Amino acid sequence: MRHTNFIEALSTDDLDAIRAAPKTDVHSHAFLSTRLKNLEHWLGHSVTKPPRKMNGLEEMMEYVITVLAPLQKSREGFEFVSTSGINDAIQDGVVGLEMSFDIMMARFYPNGLAGVKAFVEGLVEKYRSQINLRPELGFPRTHAGDVKLMKLAHEAIELGVFQSIDLYSYEEACAPEAVKPLYTKARAAGMKLKAHVGEFGGAEEVRRTVEALDLDEVQHGIAAAESIGVMQWLSQNRIQLNVCPTSNVMLGGVEDLASHPIRILFDNGVPVTINTDDLMIFGQSVSEEYRNLYQAGVFSAQELDDIRRASVTSFATE
Ligand SMILES: [Zn+2]
Repeated sequence: MRHTNFIEALSTDDLDAIRAAPKTDVHSHAFLSTRLKNLEHWLGHSVTKPPRKMNGLEEMMEYVITVLAPLQKSREGFEFVSTSGINDAIQDGVVGLEMSFDIMMARFYPNGLAGVKAFVEGLVEKYRSQINLRPELGFPRTHAGDVKLMKLAHEAIELGVFQSIDLYSYEEACAPEAVKPLYTKARAAGMKLKAHVGEFGGAEEVRRTVEALDLDEVQHGIAAAESIGVMQWLSQNRIQLNVCPTSNVMLGGVEDLASHPIRILFDNGVPVTINTDDLMIFGQSVSEEYRNLYQAGVFSAQELDDIRRASVTSFATE
């Protein structure tokens, strides 16, 4: 790859050069991690596109459940999408990828978690020379009361293959305390602790969840911008927010890119990174997210380069 100055690449809108600069993606869900066109190519037919604007997570989940899940709800589908997502990241210049694998993927393997472990370890090894893939264990809030799945998640931590943990799905589905034992165990295993919170509202809920689960980083967390006090607290405690701008706009959490609160968070000293969330739905790579933020006038090219460099440093020093 050509090595061109990232700032110049942004200001001249040279997407290849933007891609050539090292970046990280630390907010990526494996089962929605590749471009829709790659899934279509694999299936051999076209797939209904997601709406350009969705009414929150509810409408997105409706699309996932009715359109996408039936097409890839198998070991083959899961493995294709995860692998293709890693390839997409490599092509985009992502050098550090923290990709979450949902605990429910174990059901695709006759031998359960052992199958997941073999597959995930194989991915890390296969792509080692091209990308630093750090597998993350994903747990859906909607299943916090599912005793069997919770037990499986505890066993997944013991595998030693997952380096971080994430909690997602509807914020109101469970209080953070419901997964506290799981997070305590993950911490003891040396894993990084993350959770989705503050995607749609509630600055205090961001702080409360970070405190309750002793989080290192927050997925989204953009609601923190509503409170100077919460932003100061996040800044002082160096709690990084892993933001996905297009996701926020398409799900209606943010009006448009130009008014995205990542600007307010940045100005208040909160560490932020720029990520994809679900490339299959939102259609924007990390490089494209940087370009979009520049073109929408949210950040200068210099500020975006600072954010990019800080994300690579943060990834490398963990
Ligand atoms: Zn997410």
